[in-house]
Amino acid sequence: MNQHTMTSVYDQLLVREHLAKATPAGTLSEADEQRLKERVKQLLVEQEAVIVAHYYTSPVIQALAEETGGFIGDSLEMARFGARHPARTLVVAGVRFMGETAKILSPEKRVLMPTLEATCSLDLGCPPDEFATFCDQHPEHTVVVYANTSAAVKARADWVVTSSIAQQVVKHLHDQGKKILWAPDKHLGDYISRTTGAEMLLWDGACIVHEEFKAKGILDLKKIHPTAAVLAHPESPASVVEVADVVGSTSQLLKSAGELPNETFIVATDRGIFYKMQQENPGKHFLEAPTAGEGATCRSCAHCPWMGMNSLERMIASLESGSDEIQVSPELIDKALVPLTRMLNFPKDSSAA
Ligand code: SF4
Repeated sequence: MNQHTMTSVYDQLLVREHLAKATPAGTLSEADEQRLKERVKQLLVEQEAVIVAHYYTSPVIQALAEETGGFIGDSLEMARFGARHPARTLVVAGVRFMGETAKILSPEKRVLMPTLEATCSLDLGCPPDEFATFCDQHPEHTVVVYANTSAAVKARADWVVTSSIAQQVVKHLHDQGKKILWAPDKHLGDYISRTTGAEMLLWDGACIVHEEFKAKGILDLKKIHPTAAVLAHPESPASVVEVADVVGSTSQLLKSAGELPNETFIVATDRGIFYKMQQENPGKHFLEAPTAGEGATCRSCAHCPWMGMNSLERMIASLESGSDEIQVSPELIDKALVPLTRMLNFPKDSSAA
């Protein structure tokens, strides 16, 4: 397996600047929170809008999505829900690439976000121009990109995948003898390469949340909770994946929390997932997998700073003023739709590029 070399995402000024701006939503009194929720509900009705929220957003946002007939899911499920829902406006509570994917799949709908500043270290770490150059240098490779990328990077790909179907798609391509160029998450790419046997050329990107989990910390926690099952997202480093009982996408981890007989779980993914895990399994206990230490040197402390930018106040401002609307050019929509549709139709139609 080869790895494309570029400066680590952490050293890129762009990522640092974005992290500095990623201020989490403040704490609200119960009365204020209720007032803001009522205002969002009113605006949703007035504007024929629906909330499509990611598992990593705050419990308040997820609960509001449920209360108002919206949706909570992973990025693939969010895109599918948005495309089939009759609402005229989709309010995507998540990060920017999720809003762009919703727009690509539903170009006739208005797609608003609480803030367009909510982005992702994987998206930031894969600039379209540099990525296009990398692809041009390896024309014999099939380009597979993770959903956590800009519309422009998707437009350059043969396939788009989410973590829930990445392994199956890569295995399918590998079985056909294709060489694969993968971007942007190096840990997920490495995991897929090891589990499918596919030789993959990897872009050097990482998720600042999942990269922080520590295998040693998890093993130490296991000593205190010896019957706990460890659930890990494959965006985590190989050492963390090795000590996990289940490795999978957010939806797969959620399913395992319900299906496994264990009463305690150590969870190595964003702590936003605890809202659904606890709701679906009220008798079970969920523990955060250790990162570099709360308030110490970790950059994320198990919560995505960009997901944390989604707040009720920002949602209201976006719905009231129409600000923070996702725009994707028609040409880019046409191009990005090709690899996205391939993913949505897989394995029904697995015609590979
Ligand atoms: S948790 Fe990681 S992959 Fe997900 S949006 Fe945040 S930085 Fe990106």
